[in-house]
Amino acid sequence: MDMKQFIQEMPKAELHLHIEGTVSPKRVLELADRNGVNIEFKSEKELLDAQDYGTPPLENFLKYHYMCSDVLRTGRDIFEITQDYLEKCVIENTRHVELSFDPQGHLERGIEFGELIDALNKARKDSPVSTQLVMCMNRDRTLESALEMLKLAEDYKDDIVGLGLDSVEEGNPPVKFQEYYDRGRELGFKLTAHCDCDQNNAVEHARQCIHDLGVHRIDHGVHVMDDPQLIEDVKERGITLTMCPTWRLGDPGPRRIPAIRKMLEMNVPACLNTDDPEEFASRYMSNMLSVVQEQGEFSAEEMTQFMRNAFVGSWIPDARRGAYLKELNAHLNTFKYKSDTS
Ligand SMILES: [Zn+2]
Repeated sequence: MDMKQFIQEMPKAELHLHIEGTVSPKRVLELADRNGVNIEFKSEKELLDAQDYGTPPLENFLKYHYMCSDVLRTGRDIFEITQDYLEKCVIENTRHVELSFDPQGHLERGIEFGELIDALNKARKDSPVSTQLVMCMNRDRTLESALEMLKLAEDYKDDIVGLGLDSVEEGNPPVKFQEYYDRGRELGFKLTAHCDCDQNNAVEHARQCIHDLGVHRIDHGVHVMDDPQLIEDVKERGITLTMCPTWRLGDPGPRRIPAIRKMLEMNVPACLNTDDPEEFASRYMSNMLSVVQEQGEFSAEEMTQFMRNAFVGSWIPDARRGAYLKELNAHLNTFKYKSDTS
């Protein structure tokens, strides 16, 4: 068994995945046509070419991302893209996904909250992949809007396991959403928040997430590594960093490899995720992990440790976690055995 096959066949969990970032260019065009939405790109090639986000990268990426979300207009659309993504998970050998969705944009486009959750659930129910939902607020919107969404989510507590925060970080510090997080904790939701890379006040924002919001996970969170106290805090509290070493079209390869290596060496619980697989050149889990492994020269044990961190950081019952971890260890042992005897 070579390393590529080892990674392909590894039982996987993904904790940082936006369902809106899984719409393929082909699907974007189909849905734009079906829903009568006028988009600036007219072919799959034009859409793929536009994935070279250039400068400023985050702003250009978000523009592309929201254009792709804009074609989603009905529960049927949400069902179909979720079904597409879960079919990919089967191929990737991804066993468990904590799947983020951004309700605010969908509601604005006319999908009702219940219709949105029903569509996600319908696709989830039909799939062999285990999934849980994480509801993300766009941080450039208001606290009032977030509280409104939380009120709607209360009726779907069996479906939505956690609450998150994403989109434009600049000018929108985590503490803007203190009340949303406090209320979410009272209601029993698990908590996460994006701490994006290279943002102003990135270290302070990570501190706010850990100490003020009291998150259980951080999405990205590379700048935790800039502050020895925060490193200690995440280790002590068992806060998993859901890193996404994705790369854009035109990039030489995965970003953040030195930081990820450092996390591993310092026993910071970090796992590797695809974020928006149809919008980055890194695409889906096996491809992303294989290239990270190759360029970072990570061993099979080290790749297994990242995946162990994902299962440990997931919000599933301990018995299931134990079963996944056992399977993961067995996969590593098989690889080692085959390598020794070949
Ligand atoms: Zn994300």
